[in-house]
Order: sequence, then structure tokens, then C-alpha cells
Amino acid sequence: MKAAAPKKKSQTPKPADDTPKTVPTEKKESSAPETAPVEKKKPAAKKSAGTKKTAAKKSSAPKKAASADKKDVSEKEVPVVEKPVPAETVPESPRRSVAFIGSECYPFVKTGGLGDVMYALPRELVKQNCDVRVILPRYACIRQQYQDKMVYRGEFYMDLGRTGRNYYVGIMEYVCDGVVYDFIDNQEFFSAGNPYISLVDDIPKYCFFSKAALAALNFMNWIPDIIHCHDWQAALVPVYLRTLFHDSPVGRAKTVLTIHNLRFQGIYNIPTIQYWSGLPDEVFNMGALKQGYEDANMLKGGLAYADRITTVSGTYAQEIQTGEYGEQLEEHLRYHSYKLRGIVNGIDYEMWNPKTDAALAVNYDADDVLKRKKENKLALQKELGLEQDEEKLVLGLISRLTNQKGLDLFNAIIPQVMDGNTQIVVLGTGDKQYEDTFRYYENTYHGMFSACIQYDEARAHRIYAGADALLVPSRFEPCGLTQLNAMHYGTLPIVRETGGLKDTVEPYNVYTGSGNGFTFDRYDAGLLLDAINRAKTTYFTERANWDQVVQRDMAKDVSWENSAKQYKNLYLELTQW
Ligand code: ADP
Repeated sequence: MKAAAPKKKSQTPKPADDTPKTVPTEKKESSAPETAPVEKKKPAAKKSAGTKKTAAKKSSAPKKAASADKKDVSEKEVPVVEKPVPAETVPESPRRSVAFIGSECYPFVKTGGLGDVMYALPRELVKQNCDVRVILPRYACIRQQYQDKMVYRGEFYMDLGRTGRNYYVGIMEYVCDGVVYDFIDNQEFFSAGNPYISLVDDIPKYCFFSKAALAALNFMNWIPDIIHCHDWQAALVPVYLRTLFHDSPVGRAKTVLTIHNLRFQGIYNIPTIQYWSGLPDEVFNMGALKQGYEDANMLKGGLAYADRITTVSGTYAQEIQTGEYGEQLEEHLRYHSYKLRGIVNGIDYEMWNPKTDAALAVNYDADDVLKRKKENKLALQKELGLEQDEEKLVLGLISRLTNQKGLDLFNAIIPQVMDGNTQIVVLGTGDKQYEDTFRYYENTYHGMFSACIQYDEARAHRIYAGADALLVPSRFEPCGLTQLNAMHYGTLPIVRETGGLKDTVEPYNVYTGSGNGFTFDRYDAGLLLDAINRAKTTYFTERANWDQVVQRDMAKDVSWENSAKQYKNLYLELTQW
């Protein structure tokens, strides 16, 4: 296939806010009714989806990426055990090939739950007889130890939108545990210290990435049965696939788009997204990308064009169709609800295993958790400068510090929680107002409150192991992984009944002793305090009951196996031949 324009290696892309004034602006009109997306049937792929192979074997990313600012990515993660996954394939399940396309993946780059899912689900799908490739940007902030392991796979040039330029697309490959990772290399787009900067930079970056990922599949001649895209950063993939790439080899793949967090959608004015994406005018209609009078919404377009939509819990799949949780897309989601499904996340049992976790002071399992957890608690208290006392109730909170996470509720009741027998450990970064509030409380309750304003993977593991309970009072929570990690480490979750928190934490019942943690429903600080007080009562006055819940939580199946089987079934549903 040929690129449309001649190669111009040295040109730099125009920043998004520098869009030429010649770009046509969308005529203002009142909101049109929801319509099905318009698919372009014309064979445009050869021109716009084209790739031009070049002979030079080089990478555009610097050999050393160490200078990049890495503060918000997983810089202190526990080492990944690179050993082959036992071939526990399920022979009766037909083999399918799947390309994962997303913006982050542990251990290369992770800012939240998406990174965990992109790591764990492909590994589990390999066990479910899938052939999986994960396509990621080759960010310069990926640590050198992983950069060093990547092997050059090829390169080509690709046109992009209305820029009039051809862009370098390098493919660097790394294979681990049966999963092939292909990193899309381009220094102009991926050289920042963090994966996400601001929409002005991120919109062009992820237009490029989505298109380059599809072009790379064609280039490698690896045509998957399924393309599984994640969040807004990869949401243009289904749109490209059914338009510019429709008649190219990859056009035969089916698409699944997973919403990990509906709050982030990739919205910008239409001319800018047209300029960078090069998508045909007809996709900028109210049934697909267009939103309101003048904006384009990348996630909205992806939802319209994907063959299936999933989100990360059954409750969230329902919630996002309502005004309260729908982030302005509830109507669009209701329209597409026939193809929407909730599949709850799991956790990776190799990455999260208190028996083998190298980050912990003492390893343990369900048999010796009651004793060993106290040792981990004492070690955690020492590490954080807290009063060392194994009888204190330690409440943990591990979170991005944003308003999604219910921190306003928590902040409002901290003085009432601090009773002299309770300690609080916060680990997180995010909005300054929360960071400052937690620092204030650390100062006020010296020796009883620890505010770790940082991203530290290993410390997170030690908090899961050393705390007695973990707070997740979220305003909304698509799935939530911290409550799953906590339960697996014998730490009782205290959660608001929303999204995946509702689906994974059964409330403790004082009469029957059943349940996994303490819950509250309405978004109300008083109800959070009440849930914490119920936890305190159980911990301080009914320790035997508490200990039973600890052991039950450790035994609870929160692995990926069940969920991966559901994804596999979804893939099979889409590819019945
Ligand atoms: P979200 O994706 O909304 O951030 P999740 O609960 O789905 O929330 O996933 C959060 C993941 O990130 C968990 O694995 C949690 O342990 C981890 N995490 C969050 N904040 C930190 C931090 N400051 N340091 C280390 N790990 C963190």
C-alpha cells in the first residue's frame, strides 16, 4: 500500500491549537436525534490507511529514556516474574486471535486500573486459547530495562489526517509469558515524561496511535479475529476500521471497545479532530462523533462503530445508562445497549500474591494470615513513622486523589474517625486540595496518620498487607481494583455500593456473619462514618467474627479466570464461522 504524500522526515507535527484557519468549521445546528453511524463503503483504505515500508533499521525513540520525568508512572513496581505461563489452554474452546489496543499497560506504564487490566487480561486469555498481541505507544518514560528488551520489528511511514505529512511508525516488540507486546514508536508523539499531558497534546497523539496501530497490524500481516480497544485513547480504532481501513486486510476484524472510565472521553472541537484524524465528514454526525454544536467526542464515535461495548462491571453497565452516571452519553449508551455488557475485572494472582510478594515484610497465606498480618502491620507502622501497636485498627486508602474517589466524604469525617485507637494511611497523588488536606491531617495527628503523597507500587503492596481495612468511598467506580487487592490480602474493604464495588463486596451481615466487607449506599459522609464505625465495632469487640471475614476474603475468587472466559465467549459470539 502506498502513502498518499511524499515522505518529509524532518517536519514536525502542528500542535492541535495551531490548527490552520482553513480547516472548515462545523455549521451550528440544534442537536439532532440519535442516528446510526454512517459507514463509508468506498475503498478509501489504500490511500489513507497506507503504509510505506522503508529499509532503514532504526528507531526514532532515544536509546536512553532515563531523563524523562517519571513521577506519575510505575517507577517502583515490584519486579515482574518473567517465567512462562504453564500451557493450561482450554482445548475445547476454539482458538481466536486478539489485538489489544490501549494507552497503558503494567509494567511498562501504568497510571491506574487500565494498566492492570491491559497486563492481566491478555495473560489470562492466552490460557483460554487466544493468541494475543498488545499494542501500546512506546512512551519515552517506559523504563530502560524494558526499552532494552524490545526488538526492532519494522518501520513504515503513514499519512495522518490533514497534516499533509507522512509520519514515522516504528514497531518495537517484546514477548513475555506468551503475550506479544508491540510498541508503536514515534518520538514526536511519545517523548513526554507522562503518558497523558493535556488534551491539546493527547488528541493528536491518540489519533496517530489509533491509526498507526491498525496500520501496524496490516504491516506485520497479523490480522486478528478481534480488535479489543480500551477507553477513549483507542476509541477511534473501530471508526478507522469501518472507514479508512474498511477495505484493507485488517478490515475483516471485529471490534470490542471497553469503557474503563466513562468520565474520560476525548472531547475536542470538530475541526481539530478532523484535522488530526483525517476521518471522513460523515462520521462527524450526531449518531457518531459529534456532540453538541461544535465538539467531537472520540469515545462516542467508538461506541457507535464498535461491534460490542463492554464495561468493567454489571452494575456500572446499568449505571452509565442513567443521567447520574452517564457523563452526557447516557442516551447514546441506551441507544447502543443491545451491544453493551458488563464483565467484572479480576486481579492477577502472580502479581498479587501475599505468599510470594517480594515487597512484603513477611509473606503469608490464608493459614497464617492472622499472625503474619500483624507482623506486616508493625513493619508498615515502622516504615511510615506511625506508633507501632498491633492492636490499633489501621485503615488504608490507595487511590488517585480525585473527586471520583469520594475523598470529600472522607475528609469531612477524619476527625471523627481518629479515636486514639485507629490509624489512617493514605497513598496517592492527584488534586492539590486533597494532597494538602491529607498532609494537614498527618501534621495534626502525628504518629497516627500517614499521608504518602506519591505513586509507589511496592508501598501499595505493603499497605494492602499491613492495613486491617481499606476505604473505597467512591462517588462512582466502574470496577475498582483496590478492593479486590485488599480482599486478596485479607484486608476488609469499606466501600460505597456503586459500580464494581457493589458487585464484588457483599456487605457483612452481623446476624449471619456472612459477607466480605462494610458498605454504605447513598453518597453521604454520615453513612461512610457509620460504615467505618460498624467496622470498628466488629474489629474491637467481635474479633473472631472479623477474623472469619479476613479468611473468607482471602479465599474469595477474585482472579481473572472467570472474567477472561466471559471475554472469550464474547469473542466467539462475534466470530462464528
Ligand atoms: P483507577 O483505575 O480509577 O485509578 P482502580 O481501583 O481501578 O482505580 O485501580 C487503581 C490501581 O492503581 C490499583 O492497582 C492500585 O493499587 C493502584 N494505585 C493507585 N494509586 C496508587 C499509588 N499512589 N501508588 C501505587 N499504586 C496505586
